[in-house]
Amino acid sequence: MRSLKLETRNKKQETMKNGIINLNNISKRYRSADKFAVEEVSFSLEKGQILALVGESGSGKTTLLRLIAGLEHPDGGKIELNGEVIVSGRKSLPANKRKTGMVFQDYALFPHLNIFENVAFGLKGLKKKEAEKRVFETIELTGLREDVKKYPHQLSGGQQQRVALARALAPRPQLLLMDEPFSNLDTILRDQVREEVRQIIKSMGITAILVTHDTKDAFSTADKIAVMHDGKLLQLDTPDNLYNDPNSSYVAELFGKANNLDAVVEPNGFNTPFGFVSRSGNCPFSPNKEKVKLFFRAEETDFCNPEEPHLCGMVEQCVYLGDHMQLKVCCNRCKTCSNGNELKTNENTSILLKSTVQTWKPGDTVRFRLKNFKVKDTESQ
Ligand code: ADP
Ligand code: MG
Repeated sequence: MRSLKLETRNKKQETMKNGIINLNNISKRYRSADKFAVEEVSFSLEKGQILALVGESGSGKTTLLRLIAGLEHPDGGKIELNGEVIVSGRKSLPANKRKTGMVFQDYALFPHLNIFENVAFGLKGLKKKEAEKRVFETIELTGLREDVKKYPHQLSGGQQQRVALARALAPRPQLLLMDEPFSNLDTILRDQVREEVRQIIKSMGITAILVTHDTKDAFSTADKIAVMHDGKLLQLDTPDNLYNDPNSSYVAELFGKANNLDAVVEPNGFNTPFGFVSRSGNCPFSPNKEKVKLFFRAEETDFCNPEEPHLCGMVEQCVYLGDHMQLKVCCNRCKTCSNGNELKTNENTSILLKSTVQTWKPGDTVRFRLKNFKVKDTESQ
């Protein structure tokens, strides 16, 4: 019994050691609050990776970032940075000793300092010559060379963003923390700045955590995405896995329109309210389950001709969304596909499909097949 305990502990320690940053059961409840802002969050991040913390407003993202930066102290848990324990119990390494760089949501540039002085701000420990060299290196990397003598108010939002990034990067932090770094930028600039920021971070090989409520930011900049909800970490995974294999309907919905269709398992496939779905080679399911759900994204369907085997429904509602149309399709089987063994469900069953053809109208018959789907337990959230 004793050795088993030890083994588990060693295993735990090993997982703690794997990443450049390791969080273990970090919790935080603000004094005035009746619930945890961050609850038992654990994760590790490898060196050089960019992690996006995604979640709705109030889900605990900023708090988690501040706990890592040392601007808040957790009620419980442990944090390691580069092999050193920086938080454990009451012990805490002061923020200025943590070798983390922070980009705040509003950039927090010093208005009375020019760009050079802003970037040099965190380099007080370096000799003057060395600091100057470091500032110019960082300014070069962030494309701000022309602007060193300007003051923050003379710069555009995108440029200010780069100054904030340069200031955080100049001390060469082990971990870069960014809180909603793109939220003050308009859509066109945002796409461009996102790409630039990713390139700068990657070219320096820096590990970074980026907080955002925008899933597009997360997809386009991060190697891994962590979804926060109500202070808890729901899933941490690659963008691809989060999108295609979410572990809950909350995560699924956060990243786009998805369907969870009731189905009955048959020897060769699944019987659904919209028709029969053949079992594809790569879809594992437990044969002892009678009822399952088929998970598929709105765009994971092809439209079919009546002669082909198909699923079928009727357009109930269509929404024009520029490059595509979103169709709400309800159950209404056509003559060619209704063979009597359709699954009875409540009348409200409907699914969402995406169509690049924009001519649909309510009442149209839709024939389609699933290109890709996952089989989930009926109990899965
Ligand atoms: P997010 O960044 O995801 O919007 P926050 O970390 O700012 O979320 O907030 C998480 C929860 O903690 C929210 O319920 C918020 O109201 C609460 N909270 C944040 N900061 C404080 C504070 N200084 N004092 C009390 N409650 C706070
Ligand atoms: Mg926040």
